[in-house]
Amino acid sequence: SYRKGGYHAVRIGDSFAGGRYIAQKKLGWGQFSIVWLAYDTQTSKYVALKIQKSAPQFGQAALHEIEILSAIAAGDNANTKCVVNLVDHFKHAGPNGQHLCMVLEFLGDSLLRLIKYNRYKGLEFNKVREICKCILTSLDYLHRELGLIHTDLKPENILLYSTINPSKDPIRSGMTPILEKPEGNPNGVVTINTIEKKLKQRARRAVARISERRASMGGVGLMPKPARSLDGIDVRCKVVDFGNACWADKPMAEEIQTRQYRAPEVILQSGYSFPADMWSFACTAFELATGEMMFTPKTGQGFSEDEDHLALMMEVLGKMPRKIATCGARCKDYFDRYGDLKRIRRLKYLPLDRLLVEKFKFSGDDAREFADFLCPILDFEPEKRPTAQQCLQHPWLNMNKQKNDETKIESRVGKLNI
Ligand code: ATP
Ligand code: MG
Ligand code: MG
Repeated sequence: SYRKGGYHAVRIGDSFAGGRYIAQKKLGWGQFSIVWLAYDTQTSKYVALKIQKSAPQFGQAALHEIEILSAIAAGDNANTKCVVNLVDHFKHAGPNGQHLCMVLEFLGDSLLRLIKYNRYKGLEFNKVREICKCILTSLDYLHRELGLIHTDLKPENILLYSTINPSKDPIRSGMTPILEKPEGNPNGVVTINTIEKKLKQRARRAVARISERRASMGGVGLMPKPARSLDGIDVRCKVVDFGNACWADKPMAEEIQTRQYRAPEVILQSGYSFPADMWSFACTAFELATGEMMFTPKTGQGFSEDEDHLALMMEVLGKMPRKIATCGARCKDYFDRYGDLKRIRRLKYLPLDRLLVEKFKFSGDDAREFADFLCPILDFEPEKRPTAQQCLQHPWLNMNKQKNDETKIESRVGKLNI
């Protein structure tokens, strides 16, 4: 896609916006853009440079994203709302055309990587709680203060960052939690206390190298050395990718959200709003705690992916109320007039708390408490789901499970022998 209308090809050292930003390393890409780590010579900080493809429809999409990111930044001067901060934007002319560029604060790896590097086993409850609080803080801000629906909330679109205060720890302040593959690590646990020491040594060496290099390149730095462990780093994260976000009073697309995180009202086309994000949030929280996606629907013999999805939902959450199953534009395609699925007749009901015990080996207490938090957010009736603000008040988020989790970590670290 490095052709007319497509991506802009970048080389290390390329400069943007009249020399202000210097490209350092490719960070990622999506359907619309490539994202590079860049050094901001004006503020001496690292930033993520999102360079949009140049064809007109991508330019339009970037303008929309910039409008939304600007509103987000304008309402969050202190940058405390767990949403990515837009620093700057500009146009860049290249051989493939004019590219709109967004300059974003530089964040770390996504929650999807975090789940993967934990070998899909689920994170400790305390980490899940901290991450949930961040996501809910961002949703409360987007929904209640701005009137925005994200529409594509999922682990891939939530990035880690470190909260180390530069004035207290200048060595590690520039670091972002970029995770290391758990090679040679039998338990696949990323969070290991003993790495702390090595991390500090490595960081000192990296800082020395960076300043040397900076001096020799006239102020241009190397990329910050990544932190290799999440321990000692307060786990925090921010929501990114506002390319599909929309104002609640101006819904854009009929079909929103990534399949596995899609709310029932979106499948049934009965109208959506903020509660659709809450559904995706609950699916994300489940995935963090268990390591597996909550719903992975598939097309089968005689039924569609949508129908399988609705069946999977009902198997964990119970039968859909008749009024929900019969009122959306697509309802007649899937449900009969009694509110039963037309083509998938026999459902294997297994309520969430029992699923957590039987499949994921949670203790009875843990399962009940977590299900008590999640189930209301997975109400089939969108109007009945709690808001992000209400979720933030839930006792599960503030439960003190310090002791349990500490013993869990100790028993794992004990086996690692590093
Ligand atoms: P999509 O097809 O998902 O809509 P997109 O073209 O809109 O993609 P993004 O999802 O915004 O692009 O970004 C692509 C990738 O770049 C992300 O998955 C992530 O790995 C990386 N990335 C994006 N923003 C940042 C950031 N602020 N800091 C660090 N990395 C980032
Ligand atoms: Mg994305
Ligand atoms: Mg996008």
